[in-house]
Amino acid sequence: MTPIEIPPALLPADGRFCSGPGKVRVEALEALAATGATYMGTSHRFVTVQFKVAELRNGLAEMFALPDGYEVLLGNGGSTSFWDAASFGLIERRSHHLSYGEFSSKFATVTEAAPHLERPEVITAEPGTRPDVQSGTDVDAYCYPHNETSTGVIIDPTRPDDDGLVLVDATSAAGGVRFDPNQTDVYYFAPQKALASDGGLWLAACSPAAIDRIERLAASDRWCPATLDLKIALDNSRKDQTYNTPALATIFLAAEQVNWINDQGGLEWAAGRCDQSAATIYGWAEASDYAAPFVTDIGHRSPIVATIDLDERLSADDMVEQLRLNGILDTAGYRKLGRNQLRIALFPAIEPSDVEALTHCIDHLAERL
Ligand SMILES: *Cc1c(COP(=O)(O)O)cnc(C)c1O
Repeated sequence: MTPIEIPPALLPADGRFCSGPGKVRVEALEALAATGATYMGTSHRFVTVQFKVAELRNGLAEMFALPDGYEVLLGNGGSTSFWDAASFGLIERRSHHLSYGEFSSKFATVTEAAPHLERPEVITAEPGTRPDVQSGTDVDAYCYPHNETSTGVIIDPTRPDDDGLVLVDATSAAGGVRFDPNQTDVYYFAPQKALASDGGLWLAACSPAAIDRIERLAASDRWCPATLDLKIALDNSRKDQTYNTPALATIFLAAEQVNWINDQGGLEWAAGRCDQSAATIYGWAEASDYAAPFVTDIGHRSPIVATIDLDERLSADDMVEQLRLNGILDTAGYRKLGRNQLRIALFPAIEPSDVEALTHCIDHLAERL
């Protein structure tokens, strides 16, 4: 493919728009490097690392404005491991899932396959839309993502009219989208997306009811592998530790991002920044004669991951490749969706002015492709 050069004046200052792992702020990487011989390569059983874990747990509680009694747990393995852990330590008998994209469907697959659980109730909807929770059914846990990252569909977590636990997968939303923690029992995520850190860790803000459930299931005769045992994770988290060795850089970078957000004004500030980027990208797509937001219902459109369909005459693959040749990375749609689509992260770490610049770059290429 012959490269089409985008004039330097149009380019964003930072070309990272990946939806996961997302942009890590250069300032955070420099702060990590500046720890020199004092942090990386020291024991996670000693205070230096424990203080960093405490800083992250406390910073998250502050950023989410967690109600009294909520606790932040952490463990190794990212959100995918957390699904396995939840199938042992949080779902008692039967779960209810909304399934409308790659990530929401994967959690449903976990509980469908778990021999110790009854068949889950799974409500599906077409990618780009979302189904509603059906409360009052015979389940003890409601499971759905805050943001379905594969399609760019958002939902506002809401507690149904019964005492089933509300388990919200906030992997691409945590730290960039407003929510009411009282409406959730477990708000869990990995920090490599909106939290601008790296992968391999899961974090979960748990309500007292969720902690009760963890303790009760751990005391039952259900077998659970130790690495997925949420009671072991709870006991270690209370000591600002993990059961086995965590990635220290991931913890450091997550704490950097949470501190940065809290210093600027907290979740409200971060969400406002994402709203600004979302207004820019969706406004541009709606005004464009060759691009359009994939999610047609405005209330379901994600403020944190934008999916934009391109007109058939313009190949999204070519667009993504030309952007890449100009240093603008990872704008491809989710492969399995198979659409002529761009997917652009609007995470808090991404400058709204860079999202604006990106739209000009896409226009520049569209005229020439
Ligand atoms: C990326 C993502 C996951 C998977 O996270 P891992 O840390 O890679 O396991 C799960 N759920 C959602 C909503 C995601 O965006």
